[in-house]
Amino acid sequence: MNKLIVGSLSAMLAACAAQSPKSPEPAGAAGPPPAAARPPSGLDLAGFDRSVRPQDDLYRFTGGGWLAKTDIPADRATFGTFELLEVQAEERTRRIIEDAAREPNRAPGSDARKIGDFYTSFMDTAHLEQAGIEPLKAELARIDALRTPRDVAAHIGYAQRIGVNHPFVWFVGQDGRDATQYLANLYQTGLTMPDRDYYLKPDKRYQELRTALGAYVGDMLSLAGGVDATEAAKHVVALETKLAEAHWTKVKNRDPVATYNRMDKAEVAKLAPGFDWAAFNGAAGIPGDVTDVNQPSYIAAVAQVVSGEPAAHWREYFRFHLLDEYAPFLSQAFVDRQFDFRQRTIKGVQEQKPRWKRAVDTMDSLVGEMVGKLYVEKHFSPEAKQRVRTLVDNLLRSFDASIDGLDWMSPATKLEAKRKVASFTVKIGYPDKWRDYSTLAISPNDLAGNVLRAATYEHQRNVAKLGKPLDRTEWLMPPQQVNAYYYPPMNEIVFPAAILEPPFFNVAADDAVNYGGIGSVIGHEISHGFDDSGRQFDGAGNLRDWWQREDTEKFKEKAARLVAQYGSYTVLDGQKLNGELTIGENIGDLSGSAVAYKAYRLSLGGREAAVIDAFTGPQRFFLGYAQIWRRKYREQEQRMRLLTDPHSPAEFRANGVVTNMNEFYDAFGLKPGDGLYRAPQERVKIW
Ligand SMILES: [Zn+2]
Repeated sequence: MNKLIVGSLSAMLAACAAQSPKSPEPAGAAGPPPAAARPPSGLDLAGFDRSVRPQDDLYRFTGGGWLAKTDIPADRATFGTFELLEVQAEERTRRIIEDAAREPNRAPGSDARKIGDFYTSFMDTAHLEQAGIEPLKAELARIDALRTPRDVAAHIGYAQRIGVNHPFVWFVGQDGRDATQYLANLYQTGLTMPDRDYYLKPDKRYQELRTALGAYVGDMLSLAGGVDATEAAKHVVALETKLAEAHWTKVKNRDPVATYNRMDKAEVAKLAPGFDWAAFNGAAGIPGDVTDVNQPSYIAAVAQVVSGEPAAHWREYFRFHLLDEYAPFLSQAFVDRQFDFRQRTIKGVQEQKPRWKRAVDTMDSLVGEMVGKLYVEKHFSPEAKQRVRTLVDNLLRSFDASIDGLDWMSPATKLEAKRKVASFTVKIGYPDKWRDYSTLAISPNDLAGNVLRAATYEHQRNVAKLGKPLDRTEWLMPPQQVNAYYYPPMNEIVFPAAILEPPFFNVAADDAVNYGGIGSVIGHEISHGFDDSGRQFDGAGNLRDWWQREDTEKFKEKAARLVAQYGSYTVLDGQKLNGELTIGENIGDLSGSAVAYKAYRLSLGGREAAVIDAFTGPQRFFLGYAQIWRRKYREQEQRMRLLTDPHSPAEFRANGVVTNMNEFYDAFGLKPGDGLYRAPQERVKIW
């Protein structure tokens, strides 16, 4: 659960890569090097579209050629530079895992043996066909025995241990107001479709999806047998619709103050009477002493549904969610039916990923560090780590300097902001301390059992944190994940090894494109510490208002203008982008690029950059920035993201940012009437 990873680039963004090969300080002599010695620009000119002017549409100027010749692979919902890196990481991980699987005689209990056995259990399709629903027999029997609201509450607790976290999830995070302490959380879940809007919107498109959901639930229940699937499906959809009505919106969940509701046992009981919390806590194996109830009204609503809905309907709901959660690890009929709904119907994906890729994805998410340890031995050097560190330091210095230059912020708030910059933790490549998987048993012929035990391991790892000192070495993503994040309670930015790669960062290339690419991504993550949500945390990771009131007002006024700007972009079917949902990421993009540009100037040390590929240094910075946003989406995926994704579509991440940057106007000589021109008073500069 990562609700506090405000800055996760997640399935969305992208990008980056290692760091400049050169020292940011040029070695002495001024003037560009002779042409023969000049490094390449790092621009992929073949993907440009020269029929478009960069002043009108930077996104299509740098990516139009690529967009025209690229098809989204049949097994993906979206494809761009980010996914290109993902493909590379998947293939590397496959080789590591297959090497481990080829030597089944490795020491029992060793990580390599477990990795090999897990993979073998995933790839042994003959065994999975023969087993059918058998691997879930005991779990289904447990559900069949539920009779009372107390049983239902206990089962919701038990299911946390096996990774079926519905209708809410329990996990351990940091206390928002005392970040030195761990704190248990309850957070809304419970829906099969991506957002409450899918259940509640009147449009025909969503009505059809609700019908498709009913068919999906019915088919899954029918595959497992044991219930009247048609009737049961109606109950499950009706129950989920009740939960959807009580769900908070994604915009509201972005508010760290509204979602901070620290309650003791008595307060939780009072909030949600009729729900047997003792039974829940007992079955989950948790103390339940103090909890951050993120969405109190939702938890209260769940309590009502638990006491009001017949236990028979809950049995159907639990059966279905168990099957839905474990379908990828059962026989082909389950795998196919789930793909058809979750990937084809919801996201528009045409074909399943090959089985080996699904195995790699599963292991990345369940035992990611076990695999990641081997991954970085092969694919990430201490030298790369050091180089990225240098680039990050330059960005932090530039961010600090830009605070000095803010005309809208008072000295007192500036001081606190600079303190926060100074206390950032930076994690690069991989964790210093790896997770210990020694208690996790993996069998070569029990895939569902492996998944179940891995989920239980993760649950226990969470439970064990309570009451212990904070572990500052923990990573929330494995190193082979193509992603990056900012995590407010730790005030840390984290860049896994797999994203520190070409083509986003090109070791051999000139600095301009690297600063525009990886530099902007690093700046983006730093800026999350100062976006609409991140700014509410101080340098120690505590939710504390360190802003002078007039500064807060000025910040909100600027943010509101950015909300309106992005809210005016049309995405599809005339639907506008949700400027409020995406405000944090848009602030990250805009401020990240502004800071990266400053860092680039710093790296030039007053020298004029050479012209390469007929572009000046400042031009290459912006072209390098735009080229990381080459990306295509399937229509269904785009529709889903409109409702659920805090990131703007790639086109606006490229074009939206530059309309606000004076440096872009200077670099390309923009004039009124150009497509990307905005009058000076309409441009937004926050950080
Ligand atoms: Zn972000």
